This record gives sequence, structure tokens and C-alpha cells, in this order.
Amino acid sequence: MKKMRLVVASGNAHKLREIAEIFTDFEVVSQKEMGFDGDVEETGETFVENALIKARAACQALGCMALADDSGLCVDALGGAPGVYSARYCGHHGSDAENRAVLLKNLQGAKDRSAHFTSAIALVYPNGRELTAEGYTYGKILEEEVGEGGFGYDCLFFSDDLQKTFGVASSEEKNGVSHRFRALQAMLKKWKEEP
Ligand code: IMP
Repeated sequence: MKKMRLVVASGNAHKLREIAEIFTDFEVVSQKEMGFDGDVEETGETFVENALIKARAACQALGCMALADDSGLCVDALGGAPGVYSARYCGHHGSDAENRAVLLKNLQGAKDRSAHFTSAIALVYPNGRELTAEGYTYGKILEEEVGEGGFGYDCLFFSDDLQKTFGVASSEEKNGVSHRFRALQAMLKKWKEEP
């Protein structure tokens, strides 16, 4: 039987592989492969809003079902910051090292260093139907970087599940407990209940 096509509103090869491994009932393709560059402004105030903005744009441009994710780090002592601003916490987009330096500065002297990553997934159908799901992974922010693996805040995030930083964990270990994996699982469950 021909698989249903699912466009993913991301160019990140790692995310695409992770999604294809979970959404095995679908033919998973990137929006870029379909000819859409996905250059949309993420103006939402929540992860879910931003995921919906990206999925709606791809769905409208390409006329097929589209899935998008939006994620970030939420630190309790900072009232949930950097949150949706995780990629641009230092004031501009792009530098993971600068973002981590700002995080450490803002947490100087903080006793409570608990934090979680959030991932929101949005699935948008051409008929206007929309499904959303979220996933979380919990831990704390160390006072210095440990490990060089992963990206973003990984080397500062000591995972409760793994009892080591995501910067030290293998990608298999991280993927088994990650916020994105959990959000994708939750989305697949919703989709199976009401396809
Ligand atoms: P995006 O939604 O993948 O663009 O992620 C937004 C930002 O959140 C990234 O630039 C990272 O700073 C941070 N982030 C999201 N997921 C992770 C993760 O798994 N590890 C480390 N940082 C992450």
C-alpha cells in the first residue's frame, strides 16, 4: 500500500531521521525536498504556537499534511527562560556558546538549577485539522560545561534520566529520553487514536 506523505517543516537531517523512525506509516520528506524553503517568522509566544506557524506554512505552500516541531530550554529559577527564545538568548540567532554563557551568567549564585527541555509538535492537515503534542525531559543546569556532544545547551544539562549531561550521552541515549522523542511519541498516539 502506498504510504501517506508527511512533509516535515525542518531542514535538520537529524530531526527528519528521528521523525521517520517513529512515523513509519508515512513517507517522510522535508519541505525543502518538496520545493518550499520554509522561511517564516516564529512570532509565537509558546512552543505550540511556533510549531503551528511552521506546520501551517508548509501545509499551505505544499498542499499536503505537514509536521513541525519547536523546542527550547526552560529554567525554573529564570521563570521559564530562555523558553521560546532559546536559540537567540544572547540577543542574536545562532551562537550556542554565547547562549550558554548568558545562561550561566543569569544563573550565577542560583541554588535551584532545575530545568527542562520542551518540544512541541504540530501536525496540520490540508482540510484545516490541527493536532498538537508536547514532550519534556527534566534535569538541572550545571555550573560548567561537561562533554562536547550534542548541540545547544546539551553540555550544561544534567539529565535526571541518564544521570549525566546530554553533552556526554551518546545520541542513542539522548534520543531515548529526549523531549522531542517524547513529543513525537505523544503525537503518534494521538494520530493513531484519531487518524
Ligand atoms: P529548535 O526548535 O530545534 O530550533 O531549537 C531551539 C533552541 O533550543 C536550540 O537552538 C537550542 O538552543 C535549544 N534546544 C532545543 N532542543 C535542544 C536539545 O535537545 N539540546 C540542547 N539544546 C536544545
